[in-house]
Amino acid sequence: MMGDKDYKQTINSALDVLTKETTQQISEPANKNEIFLHEVTRCMRRSYFDRFDAIETSGKEFERVLGGLIRKLPYGAKLGEFAIDEIRLKGQADMIVDDIVIIFKTVKEPPENPSASDVLYLNGCMWIFDKTEGVIVYMTGDGTETSFALYREKKMFEEVIRRVRVFSNLISDKKVPILEPSGECSSCQYYERCYIKKREGKQITISELFGSKNK
Ligand code: SF4
Repeated sequence: MMGDKDYKQTINSALDVLTKETTQQISEPANKNEIFLHEVTRCMRRSYFDRFDAIETSGKEFERVLGGLIRKLPYGAKLGEFAIDEIRLKGQADMIVDDIVIIFKTVKEPPENPSASDVLYLNGCMWIFDKTEGVIVYMTGDGTETSFALYREKKMFEEVIRRVRVFSNLISDKKVPILEPSGECSSCQYYERCYIKKREGKQITISELFGSKNK
């Protein structure tokens, strides 16, 4: 706090507005026929909580803001759809240039390999936009850029379609998906819901436990 102004609060509010303006908002959480690609290419339990009992991440997901800003530019990609029976799978690349689908990610360290979730997401975008080539670009804070080029793969997309159907059924049945333990858990806002049970009942002291009366 400097003077009368709480700059941290102001910056957090500005980031929240930016996040809401630039990221995909799910307008009908109970709609089992509208599934977003990012919901099924990461932990579906997390996506379910995001739909029905969300804990806000207070503007920390900078890569979502970055992707959202790129998509708002004139050469940014539009939202695409892929029909799976009555379900509409919706996904958005960051850019499509020369028929190549591109997504951008911000990372702390340049990765040796792209993450499984990012590969599934990019592959899904290639099917949604009917393209055969894609690139994931990882960028670090110091400006290092690491790219991975991939070709469209059918088996991988079939797995995404299977997950779309499972997620849609869980929404319909109002059932929370099972745990999907992965490296994502350590930075997940729902970690405590998944791994740490709240203690029930009243707390007791050691002396109460052993019936100590020598006071
Ligand atoms: S902590 Fe892990 S299993 Fe639980 S919702 Fe988050 S990512 Fe999924």
